Amino acid sequence: MSLPNLSQAALKNKKIILRADLNVPMKDGEILDDSRIMSLLPTIDYLCMEGASIILISHFGRPQGKTVPEMSLKQLLPALEKCWKKPIFFAEDCIGSQAEKVTQNLKSGEIALLENLRFHPEEEENDLHFAQALAKLGDIYVNDGFAVSHRAHASVHAITQYLPSFPGLLMSKEINALSQALQAPQRPLAAIVAGSKISTKLDLLKNLLNKVDVLMLSGGIANTFLKARNIEIGASLYEPSMLETTQEIEKLAGEKQVEIVLPIDATGPLNAEDFITINLAHAPKEFKILDIGPETVSLFSSKLTQVRTLVWNGPLGVFEMPPFDQGTTAIAQKVAELSRHQKLFSIAGGGETLAALANAKSSHDFSYLSTAGGAFLEWLEGKDLPGIMALIKSDPQAG
Ligand code: ADP
Ligand code: MG
Repeated sequence: MSLPNLSQAALKNKKIILRADLNVPMKDGEILDDSRIMSLLPTIDYLCMEGASIILISHFGRPQGKTVPEMSLKQLLPALEKCWKKPIFFAEDCIGSQAEKVTQNLKSGEIALLENLRFHPEEEENDLHFAQALAKLGDIYVNDGFAVSHRAHASVHAITQYLPSFPGLLMSKEINALSQALQAPQRPLAAIVAGSKISTKLDLLKNLLNKVDVLMLSGGIANTFLKARNIEIGASLYEPSMLETTQEIEKLAGEKQVEIVLPIDATGPLNAEDFITINLAHAPKEFKILDIGPETVSLFSSKLTQVRTLVWNGPLGVFEMPPFDQGTTAIAQKVAELSRHQKLFSIAGGGETLAALANAKSSHDFSYLSTAGGAFLEWLEGKDLPGIMALIKSDPQAG
């Protein structure tokens, strides 16, 4: 598979339709986290420096095909102008005369933001006419929204039929990091998969079994494996319907010589007041595993020192409730230390995972953190992402 490269595009005096993910978290009109906006800066700067103008398109929230004033992208203008240090024009609609009026006279280095794509139901329907109406506004299409590329939506998928199409710099960076971890990793390759339920991570586990050398499990996922191995987990969260599935996974792991590593001790409440750390061979019936214990921290840490690449999804314990964040924090700090010293290439992603790593204050030492949520998980599941496949197919070099 080969993706076209933006450096091969002739950009001077061209109008670039840039699909970004501007779906930033907001509360009471305030942006809670502007990292999505900042991460687009390299692409914005590159396009402007090459003499192109930019027509920026994005969705925001879930307006479900209707105009919802609270979900207007207009409210992001001050933040975009501040982060990118440029004035930005705005069109009240992403297609039609409004959009044409604002974009037709854009000059090299200028940027126009178009209104929320999802005000039109055709966006999520991957509608060809809608895609064509968008494409008409520009000369070249650039997708920098990896986080929306698992959706076959018009601004991600259908539009590539009508314009020369390229990944943006942010998209390329994300794909390179993910490829370095899963397509051509330095071995041994380990994965940490944790969180609450196996049922939501089944495809991911099955795909990772084909790739990794070591699979470390925790959370409700590990509990279900422990239960199936007849290890007492007391009143801990597990999925009875998944017991047989864990046995299939264990069998497959044996065939593929993947080492499955499970917790050996745990911390959790014994009653309303007290919590204890115990060896898992001796868990009382009323005990609930809410975090890994110190012996498991040592076990996982020693495995980490033996591998060269790590993919991590899922907090190891109920990190939202201290002190049950301690296990996740200890492992996060170990990964951060190994990555800082270039001993480990580490990537992590997932909503709660990122929150847990931030809580451990170790986010910035990971080799790469994916903020792409669902798209990151689908990549780990080995699925083809429609937005990326569309870029590959549209590559004129690929023929
Ligand atoms: P992500 O959003 O990063 O993909 P998940 O949604 O799969 O992660 O899982 C995160 C949740 O798993 C967290 O809310 C955490 O509290 C929960 N969790 C972790 N360990 C346990 C456990 N032992 N028992 C119950 N819940 C757990
Ligand atoms: Mg989650």
